[in-house]
Amino acid sequence: MNISESKRLFAKAQDFIPGGVNSPVRAFRAVGGDPIFIKKASGAFIYDENDNAYIEMINSWGPMILGHNHPIIRESVIQAMESGTSFGAPTAREIEIAELIISVVPSVEKVRMVNSGTEATMSAIRVARGYTGKDKIIKMIGHYHGHGDSFLIAAGSGAMTMGQPDSPGVTAGTAKDTLLAPYNDLEAIEELVRLNKGEIAALILEPVPGNMGLAIPMPGYLEGLREICNREGIVLIFDEVMTGFRLAPGGAQELYGVTPDMTTLGKIIGGGMPVGAYGGRKEIMDFVSPSGPVYQAGTLSGNPIAMAAGLAMLKYLQSHPETYGQLLNIGRKVSEGIKKINLELGYDYTVNQVGSMYSLFFTDQPVTDFESAKQADTGLFGKYFQAMLQRGVYLAPSQFESLFLSTALTDELIDKILEAHRESMIEIHKN
Ligand code: PMP
Repeated sequence: MNISESKRLFAKAQDFIPGGVNSPVRAFRAVGGDPIFIKKASGAFIYDENDNAYIEMINSWGPMILGHNHPIIRESVIQAMESGTSFGAPTAREIEIAELIISVVPSVEKVRMVNSGTEATMSAIRVARGYTGKDKIIKMIGHYHGHGDSFLIAAGSGAMTMGQPDSPGVTAGTAKDTLLAPYNDLEAIEELVRLNKGEIAALILEPVPGNMGLAIPMPGYLEGLREICNREGIVLIFDEVMTGFRLAPGGAQELYGVTPDMTTLGKIIGGGMPVGAYGGRKEIMDFVSPSGPVYQAGTLSGNPIAMAAGLAMLKYLQSHPETYGQLLNIGRKVSEGIKKINLELGYDYTVNQVGSMYSLFFTDQPVTDFESAKQADTGLFGKYFQAMLQRGVYLAPSQFESLFLSTALTDELIDKILEAHRESMIEIHKN
């Protein structure tokens, strides 16, 4: 495969952009080789600068649930553009998208739009702190909530991939207010609560974490967190930036029937534009300025073009509820196909899947938390990633990420993915 243009661009990019990329995982550091530079994307495919086509398994890290450049989103954006790109003043579309999110996401009674998942989680914990008058938060080891200071402590995703789960530049003062617990371990939460009685404002987690690779909540775990937070007056925040509108219309909270106090959203609600949101119970959200004392603002928040893209996406999902059955089918076909091929070849690697998200871990042990995820053979993953890329399948360039499938994957394309998987598994285990 000729990727000469990507190589040329990456060499040049490194002179002007730190590491040559605007977000670390894109640099392919964890898997070796040069990143491919993307020229365009359509449906199930992305195309690099040499016009090679790849089947998409990341889909912009989640937003492109219907595949790339979907006509309903494209047309909605083009139409919105006719009226201008930003006003910095309220618009009707913002009410429409807020109403739609509230009607679908169980925990959300009021919602504030922001510009990224990072802003959503940063703002949510500020509000939880303002509301409770307490400082400390609990986060799970290996979960990622964007690059806000409070979250860059034992963080997953790119931080884990780069081996920098704790970032220089985060002050000791900030770090001391972030308490850490392993995922899927209620006893650890009980212990933290005991040791920090009456001092914890919020517990934030990815209900179905995708940022240490995909892990699954054990039966009773989310319910247990809900009970502890009720008992202790802790604001329970589900970070559904990845899972919102993907695992079910109402996200993981709908799928597992556990309603948090606050929810953060992103990705799908922007239809590929830079959008995030945080929402929750009215009494908490009324603490947000200008109705309450907790300050949070944004020049481009609720941007008309971003709202048009997000609304087109959410309205489509609302009027096509069958999408979720399709996504589940696709997720099952791909992940079960992979498991079957692995077993035929004699490899009992762990595959975690929920709906249209899955991870193949290069370990035969179950992956339920950060420690078990770290047991995976990242060297072997790197070889697998390259072997799949050579065969035209674009995976997330790290063992510690989930894949995000779209409805654009036909049965024929799934067969191609599985064929590439079989060949890649044979190739990487050759010596
Ligand atoms: N929360 C979760 C669960 C995420 O997966 C991400 C990013 N992948 C974020 C927050 C941060 O979102 P953003 O990159 O838009 O700032």
